[in-house]
Amino acid sequence: MEFRYLGNSGLKISEITYGNWLTHGSQVENETATKCVQAALDAGISTFDTADVYANTAAETVLGEALKGERRESLEIFTKVYWPTGPRGKNDTGLSRKHIMESVNGSLQRLQTDYVDLYQAHRYDTETPLEETMQAFADVVRQGKALYIGVSEWTADQIREGVRLSKEMGFQLISSQPQYSMLWRVIEDEVVPTSAELGVSQIVWSPIAQGVLSGKYLPGEAPPAGSRATDEKGGADMIKRFMRDDVLTRVQALKPIADDAGLTMAQLAIAWVLQNDNVAAALVGASRPEQVGENVKAAGVRLDADVMSAIDEALGDVVER
Ligand code: NDP
Repeated sequence: MEFRYLGNSGLKISEITYGNWLTHGSQVENETATKCVQAALDAGISTFDTADVYANTAAETVLGEALKGERRESLEIFTKVYWPTGPRGKNDTGLSRKHIMESVNGSLQRLQTDYVDLYQAHRYDTETPLEETMQAFADVVRQGKALYIGVSEWTADQIREGVRLSKEMGFQLISSQPQYSMLWRVIEDEVVPTSAELGVSQIVWSPIAQGVLSGKYLPGEAPPAGSRATDEKGGADMIKRFMRDDVLTRVQALKPIADDAGLTMAQLAIAWVLQNDNVAAALVGASRPEQVGENVKAAGVRLDADVMSAIDEALGDVVER
């Protein structure tokens, strides 16, 4: 496994990071979830990402159980606060001081740890003053409940303002967690250059486009049984944007490129996001331990310029920018 610094901090994380959205506490049984975590640890992954909202808090509980007994100093555990939708009490949401303070305590309890390495604002809250949010994060860091702060799906301007306030308040905001893959490149124009300037790294989600870039979904054919596109507990909805014949046809054109590079299509997709210098880690999910074993082999792979342009040519106009 290769490790990269997160932002301009001294924290090193595994460039392939294991995420448990839609899997732990939901799509996969706890026994399989534990096997996936074990496969990740065996493969050298040390960084694990979850959120309070995943499986309505169950994902944190499953991850906490699966990591129990591991040496805490060898792990980086990341979680998040504030998901905008869903039935919750009026204060059980948002980035208010009250919700941040209550949510971090719940997360630590479920994860069975005294601190998380990175605590992330899952979305930007337009209704709470940013100063209040940042002051609460400063206090969470001062209390030792989180070591560093990150954000997710914030715009370049929001990241800039967040970093400015974090400096004023004496803590480190070092990461941004956006969607990024060969098919979804919207961060390249603004978020990446602004972050690079400010010493903020990207930890990117859905690098395999939720499984689509593995090539297993074929145009005109039903998705394989048990795959995320068939998952009725929530996955099928989010993956729909990629489940179109024009996209799936273009994706199949990546197969010979992956073959020539000696990689599987999933490995090519992961290696592609890691090619971006501002990306500290590809946040990869798995419903089976074998997927972890396959995906982790993308660590350390570097693609040459010819491969990168062949990928652009193969995907053409289905890329979202
Ligand atoms: P991926 O693009 O890595 O998709 C993972 C899914 O693809 C797996 O669950 C599996 O689904 C399938 N898959 C993985 N490897 C292979 C393989 N080798 N061959 C075939 N299929 C494969 O990322 P996710 O969408 O799961 O997101 C990763 C993580 O990012 C999350 O767990 C979470 O931590 C984070 N995230 C953050 C968000 C945010 O807003 N900050 C939003 C979404 C995710 P299956 O087998 O069921 O088809």
